[in-house]
Amino acid sequence: MRARIRTSWTHVNPTRRFLGCPNYGKNGACGFFYWYDPPTCPRGRQVLPKLVDKVASLEEMVTEIARLKEDVQTYHRRQKWIVSGLIVAVIVIGMLTVSS
Ligand SMILES: [Zn+2]
Repeated sequence: MRARIRTSWTHVNPTRRFLGCPNYGKNGACGFFYWYDPPTCPRGRQVLPKLVDKVASLEEMVTEIARLKEDVQTYHRRQKWIVSGLIVAVIVIGMLTVSS
């Protein structure tokens, strides 16, 4: 089988590409591993992990915002039902008051 080129995102080897067994992590993996790129330069090792962490925290925020948007939509739907219910109640009470 052909080894795939993949990218490491670890703090020690950020953005460093490597060749790995296509079965890595599965049954039947042979353990083949070979760095494709030379080691990441010191500046990259210093800066890239911070960027990787920032992207991860931004992705978390995007997920949280999507969840909050859903909550707001649910809240608005419930609010519409409550307002509709109140309007119906006011009309019914009004009719009962007028007829008595
Ligand atoms: Zn293999």
